[in-house]
Amino acid sequence: MRPTKIPVFFSTLPGVCMSFRAPKGTDDVLPPESRRWRELLRSWDLLAEQYGYAYVATPIFEATDLFARGVGEATEVVEKQMYSFRDKGGRHLTLRPEVTASVLRAYIQGGLSGEFKGAYSGPCFRYERPQEGRRRQFWQLGVEYLGAPDAEADLEVIELGYRYLLDCGLGDVVVHVNSIGDAPDRVAYHALLSGWLDERSHLLSKDAVRRIHTNPLRVLDSKADREVVADAPVPLDYLEGETAAHHDQLIAGLQERGIAHRHAPRLVRGLDYYNRTVFEYIPPSYAAAHNAVGGGGRYDGLSRLLGGGDLPGVGLALGLDRILSAAGQSPPARALDVFLVVADQERRSLAHAFARRLRAAGVRCDLVAGRRSVKAQFRAANRRDAALAVVIGAEWDRGMVTAKDLSSGDERTIPAGEVAAWVIGGPEGGR
Ligand code: AMP
Repeated sequence: MRPTKIPVFFSTLPGVCMSFRAPKGTDDVLPPESRRWRELLRSWDLLAEQYGYAYVATPIFEATDLFARGVGEATEVVEKQMYSFRDKGGRHLTLRPEVTASVLRAYIQGGLSGEFKGAYSGPCFRYERPQEGRRRQFWQLGVEYLGAPDAEADLEVIELGYRYLLDCGLGDVVVHVNSIGDAPDRVAYHALLSGWLDERSHLLSKDAVRRIHTNPLRVLDSKADREVVADAPVPLDYLEGETAAHHDQLIAGLQERGIAHRHAPRLVRGLDYYNRTVFEYIPPSYAAAHNAVGGGGRYDGLSRLLGGGDLPGVGLALGLDRILSAAGQSPPARALDVFLVVADQERRSLAHAFARRLRAAGVRCDLVAGRRSVKAQFRAANRRDAALAVVIGAEWDRGMVTAKDLSSGDERTIPAGEVAAWVIGGPEGGR
């Protein structure tokens, strides 16, 4: 008898004996780390609001041309790193590799005018060789200050990012700052730099040679060519009148505001749209290959490039993934304030009503679904990382509950109405 052949469709049935993994270069954010993650996002929202930035959300994908024009055809991001595809209608779309071009597009499309201060946070996508601090999906937190040509706007943006990073625990962060001049300054300077690089093309990397005439500025911060370009002419030495004054004002402001900074004459940044100020936040203790946790700059020509009017702008983008690795994991706060343990099952609906009251008072509170032994509920309280277990038993009839601090084991019977105060002020908080 011939052996029975198993039809192919049996072995390819979806979901049978298959395991899935997140795509290469992407990460899941799970508890307990996700609590720190949420904390950082919340404090970003709060700080941006305190500085007067309103929340902006834009689509995660945009027309490919927006980035080709906005970020620049000759940039590494556009040349090599974009997740681009055609949709079923034949449109060329790209998962956003950054957010500034989208915010500008939204401002122009929305018919907005004058000064505008927008803040955002969300995922961006770049096809990178994955390693620590270089992910294919990563989160950026950013602000854009549109319509303000003055160096005071640059200073505000830099200060906001600096404050945020200090608050995140990156106490040693230093702002590396440079000016790459305005477009007219750059015509002469580019010619000078291209000529200088041309003379040394035999010493340069392949990528650098390719960029001599398309994007010579980028050669200045090419790691592979560091030694060759160490003596190259730098943009700062060729700034004229107003551009030079803008930079001087910026440096004086950084000093006055006590912002730790360093002049970085070869810093140019990877995106084409910048003019004048460019900066990066570097925490020296963060030893990853790409140790900037954020950066930004001024982009006065971007609006015109995208079909808008003359509109100066300055902004920054911070990378949440890098901030988290640079700051290390500080022990996250407890996941829950209170876990209710129902000693007498007939009091379950009372317990649910009590949970609703506590939640309304701002307490993070939970209990198991369904009937379980008291021991199992205590186990759940510990597993769920609650600070306090509150037992609802016979004493409830006298308006009392037994509260147990799950760290110290301290236990006392207190009025039910004082649980919220204990959560906020500790065992004496209710007194
Ligand atoms: P950029 O404008 O490219 O300098 O990006 C601003 C910030 O976003 C960087 O300083 C990083 O913190 C973060 N970032 C950029 N690309 C990545 C990536 N591939 N993975 C993780 N973070 C990134």
